[in-house]
Formats: sequence, structure tokens, C-alpha cells
Amino acid sequence: MPAQILNDPQIIQPYLSDESKVTGQAESISFAENEAEIREILLAVSQAHQTLTVQGARTGITGGAVPKGGHILNLSKLNRITGMGWDAKRKRFLLSVQPGMQLNQLNKAIAEKSFDTTGWSAQAQSALRRFQQNGAWFLPADITETTASIGGMVSTNASGAKSYRYGSMRQHVLGLRLLLANGKSLTLRRGEQFAQGRKVALRLDDGSQIAGQLPAYQMPQVKNASGYYVHENMDLIDLFIGSEGTLGIVTEVTLALAPQPGFTWGMMAFFTSEQNALAYVHALRALPQAEQPAAIEFFDQACLALIRSEQEQLHTHQNIPALSPAAQSAIYTEFTTESLTDRDEAINRVADLLNAAGGDEQATWLALSHQDLEKLVAFRHAIPESINRIIAERKRQHPNLTKLGSDMAVPDDKLDWVMKLYEDTLTQTGLEALKFGHIGDNHLHVNILPRNEAEYTQGKQLFELWAREIVAASGTVSAEHGIGKLKHALLAELYGAQALNEMRALKRCFDSQGLLNPGNMFPLEA
Ligand SMILES: Cc1cc2nc3c(=O)[nH]c(=O)nc-3n(C[C@H](O)[C@H](O)[C@H](O)COP(=O)(O)OP(=O)(O)OC[C@H]3O[C@@H](n4cnc5c(N)ncnc54)[C@H](O)[C@@H]3O)c2cc1C
Repeated sequence: MPAQILNDPQIIQPYLSDESKVTGQAESISFAENEAEIREILLAVSQAHQTLTVQGARTGITGGAVPKGGHILNLSKLNRITGMGWDAKRKRFLLSVQPGMQLNQLNKAIAEKSFDTTGWSAQAQSALRRFQQNGAWFLPADITETTASIGGMVSTNASGAKSYRYGSMRQHVLGLRLLLANGKSLTLRRGEQFAQGRKVALRLDDGSQIAGQLPAYQMPQVKNASGYYVHENMDLIDLFIGSEGTLGIVTEVTLALAPQPGFTWGMMAFFTSEQNALAYVHALRALPQAEQPAAIEFFDQACLALIRSEQEQLHTHQNIPALSPAAQSAIYTEFTTESLTDRDEAINRVADLLNAAGGDEQATWLALSHQDLEKLVAFRHAIPESINRIIAERKRQHPNLTKLGSDMAVPDDKLDWVMKLYEDTLTQTGLEALKFGHIGDNHLHVNILPRNEAEYTQGKQLFELWAREIVAASGTVSAEHGIGKLKHALLAELYGAQALNEMRALKRCFDSQGLLNPGNMFPLEA
């Protein structure tokens, strides 16, 4: 059946925004169910001289999936697991997944080892039999918003708390299938097609070639999701991961699974000062590789105060234990070990570090069971939820307000410096803010909660100041959420105008008409 292009504004309306809460506009929408339909849609859109915006689950918070006119290609119906493989060399299982599959559905299928195998090859069925007899496995990409789609996660190079150990989505992607703007397909397997220096000559499935030049900039050596991923002699699969749908439409992803560790346990440690919390982070990061946590997460005094006050006044978050009044900041760590003996030794080791950093072992929450770990996860998720509630309330009086959330990261040796930068500038401005997030990677989300329009403007100016300072300190403007349509100025701050032109030129090699996801990462015109 040919792909259906729908023009009914009532059908289109719910798909005009994502979690950035920015609303766009579009003339039509389609819900493709296979690659052939996507190709038809691409050709129709191209012939009509329209543009196309790709959507996964629309959980993005930088407006990447928000259409700027033209057509919306929503991929939520392309949501099957299409096969399984066994990587004999690295002794791991591989899964082929369509882009609209949501992370929570995928995780469930992997945990239950239950798959709809319709259409799977004999080889995939055989890998599945091996998988079913072979212990527990998991996908190490652990983003907080588990309704996100795999295609969206690839296109934004999503990451999460456990990226401290396992890296971002990039590290788990072994293969990609894409459709380019002209409808041609490109199949990429890691290790097969490389740039020559910064020159690209990419072989498409029909044997034709795309030639181009990678931008000349050097990426900051920190966790990063800003602009195209480029370096000399790179594996070209990496160019498409994190490219925010500007170079091609991801139609299938091959992911590598990892064996589930024997024991996973968590620890929430509380400190009477931020300095002590930082000392603990430095001590954890100095542990030998094999003893490192999988995640190191931070919560400042404002986060703890928010949870306390909501527990007392709104009687929410009752599943979270009461917080000690003395606690001024907290560090959550998650560890894995293969045996109970190893776990007990590790707990003692970490308790020593905690005490040496001025933490209070007695006030520490230790989560050894799945249920207790869930409580700590609930604590981490409660903070953004409460922030969203406060902003929604303030929006009633000031409809233009949104939460302002930063996503910047710095090198290891700049962690103390950046914490002081945040603290000093927030104190100077008097803005209400909470700091939390992936401190192991020097990547905090500072959330400013403006109380009125003037503070909203002031908050945005503060972000610009931080971006300037952080770029000068070899950091990045976005480590996780990408640039989308809302952070162009920050990308320009990071790489400069010349680099933006080089990115535009690279995009034109793959998409000469500027059809795919216009306005993502950079405006199409300088
Ligand atoms: C409460 C909350 C928590 C979050 N936590 C995290 C977190 O921990 N870590 C993190 O990294 N992010 C987080 N995010 C942001 C968001 O979940 C991620 O960016 C996610 O990867 C987006 O996936 P999606 O399917 O919703 O993509 P969308 O929002 O639909 O799209 C994101 C971008 O990818 C493009 N795209 C989508 N599918 C394709 C495709 N098949 N081919 C080409 N381009 C495509 C879109 O055009 C868009 O530019 C969070 C968001 C919320 C609301």
C-alpha cells in the first residue's frame, strides 16, 4: 500500500511540538511503516519542494523534532526488533531494531528474552536460541526518559547516568541503515568505511559514492553532543550518530548488548558542604578502573531542599526516605560486582572514601535490593518532575516562561572551577536554580527557575556567559541533549562561524536541497 500523506490539521496538531514545549508548524504528516514508504514520502516531499522533519518519540528537549513547515515523518510505527546476531569475536549479542522502537519496550523484550520473530532469518533464530540459554544481557544506554525511541537516541547520541562507565549511544551502535534525502540507502557497519584524513568518499548501497570534506574543527575532549562528530580518519558510521537527522533518516540500528553484571547496588551519600561532596567525587574517580562506579551523580542543596519541602508540604515523594536536615548535597553512585564477597569489599572501600571526604556513613542510603535501588531512582527522577511542576505553576501567570536547563561539560581538571563559576554567578544574579546531574563526567544540568520574564532573560544571558567561559576552558555547550533548533548560538560559540559553514557544506553533500530536518544544529543559510 502506498504511504499515506495526511493533511488534516487536527491530525497534525499533536505532532507540532516535543518536550522542549516549542510549537512548530507543518502542512502534512505521515506514519511510515517500512523503508519503502519512507522512500516514497521522501520523493513526494522533494518533488513538492517541501522540507521534512523526522520524529521519533518527541521526547527531545531542544526542538529537533519540531517541524518548521513542510512534512512530518513520524517513525513511531516502525517499531520492530528485526533480528539478532552473535558477535563471536567479542562474545556478545547484537540486536537489529527499527528506529521507532521505544527504549522501555526494547529493554523489556531483552529482559524477558521474548521477541516477535516474524520475518527473522534462520541465523537470527539460531542466535535467539543461544541468547535464551545464555544468562542476562542488557543495553547499556540508560537515558532517563525511557519512552525515547532508538532512532532518536542514535540521532542525538543520547547518554545517561551510567554513561560514566558505558559511554553514550555511540559506543553501542555497531550498524546503521539510513535513507538519504534522494531516497538512496546507505548501510554502515562499524569498521568498514573510514574518512581519509578529513576527506569523505562514502559508498552507498547502489555502488554510487558521496564525496565531501569533514569540518576542520577539533572536538572538545569531554562528553559531547554538540555539532557533527568529526576527526581525522574517523569511522564514518560515527558521523551519522548524533547528526540530529540532518544527513539521513535512520531506518535500522544494530546494537551491541552487554552481559548483565552479577550484582548492582547503589549508594546515596550526603554531605554538609559541596566541597566535601567534590572531594568524594575526586576520590571515586581516582579508584582503579576495575573498582570504578558505573554512575556518579550529584544533587545540590537546592535539590534536597525541594524534596524536603514537597514531602512536608505537598506530601508527595513519600517513597523517598526522609532527608537529614544537615545534608547540603548528595552524591549517588551505582556499582556492579560479580560476587557477594566483592560487593562487601567494595562497600567497605567506598565507606572509607566517604568518611575521608567528610561524609556521614550512618546517614548514607545503601540500596542492595532491586526495590531499594528503585527508591534511589525515584529520588533522582523526583527532582526534574518537581521542577516541571513549579514551572507549570509559574507559567499560569507568565505564559512565556520555560525552565532553563544547561547541558554543558568541562574537562576533569575544571570541575571545581565550573562549580564555583555556577555558584558565584547564581549568587550574584539571585536567580533560583538547582544543580544536579552527571558529575562523574563533569556534566551538570543547572536548572534555572525564572519567576518572571525579566529573570527569564537574565537566565538566558547567564547561559551565554557560562558557554563563553566553558568553551574557553575547553568544555562543550551540550554534552547530552544536542543543539536542535534552540541552541544555535551556543554551537556558534563553540566552533565559530567558519565551522558552521563547513557543517552546512557537509550537509549539502548528503542533502543538496536542504530537505531533511532544516534548522537542526544550524540555520541552513549563514
Ligand atoms: C524527562 C526527560 C528526561 C530526559 N533524559 C535524558 C537523558 O537522560 N539523556 C539524554 O540523552 N536525553 C534525555 N532526554 C532527552 C530525550 O529523551 C533524548 O534526546 C532522546 O534521545 C530523544 O529521543 P526521541 O525518540 O524522543 O527523539 P525525538 O525527540 O523525536 O527526536 C530527536 C532528534 O532526533 C531526530 N530523529 C529522531 N528519529 C530519527 C531517525 N530515525 N532518523 C533521523 N533522525 C531522527 C529528530 O529529527 C530530532 O532531531 C530527556 C528528556 C526528557 C523529557
